[in-house]
Amino acid sequence: MLKVRLRPSAEGRVRARHPWIFDQSIREQNREGERSEFAVVYDRNNEFLAIGLYDPDSHLRIRVLQHGKPASIDRQWWRTRLEDAVARRATLLDEHTNAFRWIHGENDGWPALVLDRYAHTLVLKLYSSAWLPRLAELSSLIVEVLQPRSLVLRLSRNIQEIARKEFDLMDGQTLTGPKVTEPVAFIESGLRFEADVVRGQKTGFFLDQRENRQRVEKLAAGRHVLNAFSFSGGFSVYAVRGGASSVTDLDISAHALENARRNFRLNPELRSCGHETVQADAFEWLAQNREREFDLIILDPPSLAKREQERAGALRAYRKLAENAIAHLRKGGILVACSCSAHVSAEEFFGTVRESAIASTRKFQELCTTGHPADHPATFPEAHYLKAIYLEF
Ligand code: SAH
Repeated sequence: MLKVRLRPSAEGRVRARHPWIFDQSIREQNREGERSEFAVVYDRNNEFLAIGLYDPDSHLRIRVLQHGKPASIDRQWWRTRLEDAVARRATLLDEHTNAFRWIHGENDGWPALVLDRYAHTLVLKLYSSAWLPRLAELSSLIVEVLQPRSLVLRLSRNIQEIARKEFDLMDGQTLTGPKVTEPVAFIESGLRFEADVVRGQKTGFFLDQRENRQRVEKLAAGRHVLNAFSFSGGFSVYAVRGGASSVTDLDISAHALENARRNFRLNPELRSCGHETVQADAFEWLAQNREREFDLIILDPPSLAKREQERAGALRAYRKLAENAIAHLRKGGILVACSCSAHVSAEEFFGTVRESAIASTRKFQELCTTGHPADHPATFPEAHYLKAIYLEF
């Protein structure tokens, strides 16, 4: 058995149920650990603290599976954990929505693992190579409990090489069921979409923004809408159903905009509204095309701080984006500014957007701020990545 003892500062964090143990937090271990084996973590008095997955490939060396009291981690244990995650989402599935997140990583007790549902297709995304030796066991459990038509594997970039060389696994491959090669159709809030689950960003769609899309729909009536960093046009399709006068999708990726046009075509009842796609760098486009005015602008950039050192730069970028967006808003216009950077706190982000609004010297009113939806719970500080603020000018 691999036994690990921690430095005192790390003991407290693990006792407080934090799921991450970094290499420098480990004071001693009885031997070298192997990828994916269970590490049993003790405090300096030999009291049991946790059991975790050992990951020699990462500085994040142990990902805790079980806190507080010992357990034998067998198939039944995994099964109960999966069923708990499913039970937490029991009310999400209705006839209007068949795409959401079944497992949201450590927040559901499955560190570095995401399981998304798109109708009858499930997409398993792994962010740690520690899961690779357990993949067969894992996928058979998922199939047993959730019975998907197909199960697709996605791999974060940092583990793709190990997966290919040592496990013969490829990003985007179908693990079970009919091979998935085309975008998968699903419905969200009664609207039709497609997700490119094989090649698309994340698992093919940004399921985490569902509730913000619903809010945007309610605000959109009669407005000319700019959806900046639109990806496949999710916010726009909702805005059109909400009665928007026109929508403009702005994204740097031609592939994302092609998907946005497809998502519009999938909802033919929405055709009456003008839909424009603009392929450009949103930072530059917003800084330049000042003659273009809108009544509702959504800013949903990718994470601008992937590391702690990038935090200050990210805040400057958010400020610039918000300032430039506000300059395109007509009187009465609404700004919806989102951030998905875990390294930028909600208060820092909201403060920055409010400062941009104040700097515009225009009158404005804060409508609301929002956080995580129910299928993307956040149970420890670093997990709080998603935030949005709504301002009306
Ligand atoms: N709002 C989307 C998700 C946005 S993801 C939704 O609800 O589905 C971020 C998007 O920003 C991606 O589509 C990516 O292609 C795009 N992007 C990244 N950098 C960009 C840039 N500099 N200018 C415009 N778009 C960019």
